[in-house]
Parts: sequence; structure tokens; C-alpha cells
Amino acid sequence: MAAETPVPGASGAGIVLVTGATGYVGGHLVARLLSEGHRTRVTVREPGRETEVLALVRQAGADREDLLEYAVADLSADTGWAAAVDGVSHVLHVASPFPVTPPENEDELILPARDGALRVISAARTAGVRRVVMTSSFAAVGYTVKPDAQYSEEDWTDPDTEGLPAYHKSKVLAERAAWDFVEANGGIELAVVNPVGIFGPVLGPRLAASVNIVRSMLTGRMPVVPLMYFGVVDVRDVVDLHLRAMLHPKAAGERFLAVGGPSISFLGMAEALRAHLPAAADVLPSSELTVEEMREAAKTEPALRDAAGLGGRVPVISNAKARSVLDWEPRDVTRTVLDTADSLIGLGLVTPVGKP
Ligand code: NAP
Repeated sequence: MAAETPVPGASGAGIVLVTGATGYVGGHLVARLLSEGHRTRVTVREPGRETEVLALVRQAGADREDLLEYAVADLSADTGWAAAVDGVSHVLHVASPFPVTPPENEDELILPARDGALRVISAARTAGVRRVVMTSSFAAVGYTVKPDAQYSEEDWTDPDTEGLPAYHKSKVLAERAAWDFVEANGGIELAVVNPVGIFGPVLGPRLAASVNIVRSMLTGRMPVVPLMYFGVVDVRDVVDLHLRAMLHPKAAGERFLAVGGPSISFLGMAEALRAHLPAAADVLPSSELTVEEMREAAKTEPALRDAAGLGGRVPVISNAKARSVLDWEPRDVTRTVLDTADSLIGLGLVTPVGKP
């Protein structure tokens, strides 16, 4: 089954609520829902942010704006969530803070991520919503080092792992809290999608932390890269998996890793970009720090602690469950990286050196 074909039973949904629609994943997700004819309500944090959502879905080519409605709610407060879920059959809870630079206090991420997820699920349960699909992350799966580096949905990151970045901690604590809530209270179905690094076409100038890596490479801001391998998945395939997790009977109570294929390194990503965009060849990174150099640099650069802790291991992340249970077929990861770059250039967000 092709990645973009309608999911069987798509007509089984009523109003679908999407949180995080002003973001990268959320924008693509809303566009796909509209294109498939779903009545879609989105939450924005403040009134007036509707125009941001519209700009994203238009860039994604959605043509059914008449199906779009809005609610105002912030993950950090109770206000607005009861109204947001009123009359909704399914919730796609995508929103979570994902800053480019880590905060001073980890609670700035943990509290909205964990308590916000509980606000959304609890309000949804009270309103009689059938199923919540929550966007978690590989950060909640594979950041506690294990000898074989093979990861499936059975794995969990230990939130007490030494040096675990605040974002990763926020994702694992939020996902745990969501499962615990549903187990303790019942009355609502939960399915979880755990994407690795999400890349693919961008929809506007505000770039998710993942996509920012490609921009930094293309603009010469990353002359040297850490020795680090990671999984890549296309944002359009992440969206597709959310829809399958929303509608497939067997998805309830399950988490699904979203990974497009074998892990790649920062340098591998740069090499694919160099072959595709010769004009950027000189600015793209061409060397990587050794594990020893990374450990040294991480003493003064917190952003490198994650990479240094992983020590150059190559995670083997399985997408067998999403493929077999939900018939999910992700794109090739190199194509995804190149599509990211092409969209950044196409939207004028990057001008590779040497290009007129
Ligand atoms: P993004 O572009 O930064 O979008 C994040 C979204 O969350 C935005 O709509 C943002 O709203 C919303 N949000 C943040 N804090 C909020 C709060 N306190 N109340 C309400 N909304 C809030 O990031 P993304 O890449 O689309 O990420 C979407 C989801 O995918 C997140 O759950 C993220 O953890 C997960 N994920 C992302 C990746 C990746 O590589 N990008 C990988 C794995 C998982 P504002 O516009 O108002 O800030």
C-alpha cells in the first residue's frame, strides 16, 4: 500500500482534534486530514494564531479549509481544553515543547509535556472521545544505552539516565504518564507514535529543531559534525502513521516506532546533500569529531552531551510493527533528507553558497 493512500475506514472518524497545529508535524497532519475530508479542529495557544495554521496547510496544498475550525488552549493551563474536545471523536495530541536550545530549567519542558498530555487525555475522556493518538518520540524509547543497540517498541528510555537531555526526559515522562492515566482510569483508547528525527518538506520559516540541522549544514554553520548515528523518518510518513494509529482497530493500546530505514550519521547526511547540491559542497560538513573529542567538547557544550554519551554507536531501530500491524510503508531516508533541503531552498530559507 502506498504511503499516501487513504487509510481503510477513514470515514469512521467524526471531528478530529489536532494539538500543535502551528508546528511542523501538526501543519502537515492538518493538511492531510483536510485533504481526506475530515472535519478538523485545531488548538492554538493564543487567539489570532489561526493565520499561522492556514499558511502551513496552504503551503502543504490542502484544499478543504471549510472543514477547519479552531479552539484556544495551552498545555500549561486547564482553560479551553473542555471546549476543544467537545464533540470530538479522535484527538491527535502532537503538541509538546521542542526548543532548538535546551532550557535552563528542565521543568520548562517537562511540565507542559507531561501535565499537558494529562490535561488533553483527561478532557478527552470526560468528553467521550474514542481514541487519543499521542506523538511521543524515540527519545522515550532508545536513550538508555544497551549493549546491542537494537530498539523496538518494547524498549523504554530510563528517565533517570545520567545526562539525559531535558527534552528526552519530557517525552518519556509524558508518554509514561499518558499510559498510566489510561490504565488507571479506562474509558478511552490510547495509541502512541514514537518518531525518530523527523525531516522532509518544510511548510514555512519556523523550523523544527530536526530540520534546523539541515539548514545549519547548508549554511556552513556546522563545519564539523559529531560522530553520531540516528534514525530519520519523513514528516509525511509520520502523518500517515498517525492516521493509521487513529483508525486501525489493532492500534489501540499500542506504541509504534516511526523510522524510515537504517540509521544515518550526520556526516552521511552531509554526503548525501553534497552529491545532490554541488553548489553547497564547500559549506557542507566534511569531517566529524571523534568520540574522545566529543567527550572533551561536551564538557563546555551541553548540546554535545547527548552525542558524546552515545559514543558513536549505530542504533538499529525496527519499523516492523508499524509495517505489519498498520501496513505502513515509509519513504527512503536519503530521499527525505534531499526533500528537506529542496524545500528549504524552494522557500528561500536557505541559499547555498555558490548558488545565484
Ligand atoms: P514544532 O514545529 O516545534 O511544533 C511544536 C508544537 O507544539 C507547536 O505547535 C507548538 O505551539 C506546540 N506547543 C509547544 N508548547 C506548547 C504549549 N505549552 N501549549 C500548546 N502547544 C504547545 O515541533 P514538531 O517537530 O512539529 O514536533 C511535534 C511533535 O513531534 C512533538 O510532540 C515532538 O516532541 C514530536 N517529535 C518531533 C520530532 C522531530 O524530529 N521534529 C521527532 C520525534 C518526535 P506554538 O507554535 O504555540 O509554540
